[in-house]
Amino acid sequence: MDYSAISNLPKIDLHCHIDGSLSPFFVKETLHLKDHPDVVAQCLRAPEDCQSLTEYLKCFDLPIKCLQTADAITDGILNILEACANENIVYVELRFAPTFSLNANLSYRDIFESAIKGCKLGRVRYGIESNIIACAMRHLPIETNMAMLHAMADYVNYGICALDLAGDENLFANIQFADLFKEAKRFGIPFTIHSGECGSVENVRLALEFGARRVGHGIALFKDAALMEACKSNRLGLELCPTSNYQTHAITHDTVYPLRAFLDYGLLATVNTDNRTVSNTTMTKELMLVCDSLEIMEKEISTLYRNSVEISFADDTIKHRLLEAYSWK
Ligand SMILES: [Zn+2]
Repeated sequence: MDYSAISNLPKIDLHCHIDGSLSPFFVKETLHLKDHPDVVAQCLRAPEDCQSLTEYLKCFDLPIKCLQTADAITDGILNILEACANENIVYVELRFAPTFSLNANLSYRDIFESAIKGCKLGRVRYGIESNIIACAMRHLPIETNMAMLHAMADYVNYGICALDLAGDENLFANIQFADLFKEAKRFGIPFTIHSGECGSVENVRLALEFGARRVGHGIALFKDAALMEACKSNRLGLELCPTSNYQTHAITHDTVYPLRAFLDYGLLATVNTDNRTVSNTTMTKELMLVCDSLEIMEKEISTLYRNSVEISFADDTIKHRLLEAYSWK
């Protein structure tokens, strides 16, 4: 499929970080930076020769500084939703770590309400549906992540759709977070967990055991046939992010990207952006990349869309509408 055909298709992005997707112009304006937008863009984008997830995560320092007021959170979300709507994304789940926005003037309540306001305004202004995923962070103390979880509970199903765990998977493995996900289950909060992004198949196994509905990336899964079968029978969703996966060395260029293997096996694989700005990408570019490198055909693009609808944290009314938005071939 060519660029314009993919650009015109309705698309869904289930794995998109707010801080990694703010436009360079938005960051420049919000932080009153004097630098040329190209210089700001350079600070926000992963280098061409990015060596690791740890290096990739350094690009988030500046955008996190933007998300420190209620208005900036709302406007930041609108900034991304406008870009998403411009490439015909019809539904997006935006994620961020609310704890990074916590300060003397901003409570969790303020943070969640300003994020939900952004989504509501996005629907009115750009006609795009969206929900927020709140990320616990691996390097933070468990009490901090628990406090965030308890604060989000009031907003689940009212704009906040799920919990995630993000940060450096190499340094803090899933096993350390069993209590957090036990608590999420107790509150009936669905969750996805960044797992198997940089080689750990054990983290995918634990995510499934904890009761995750999805995993972020899950690339390492291709190494374990028995676990692939378990993920298939449990209908675990996989949020693949091709460009980001190459940049963080989740996959090397001499290894075949596992999307085709996952689809052929019948896993609920999806394609997403991860970070529109840090990875300098869009949903259109991500789908182009898999079409070109893996010979993904039009029929499989519709399978990816259908998988995204199934594993999304949207309610049934929105899911139904999303299925109707696509003209099936
Ligand atoms: Zn991510």
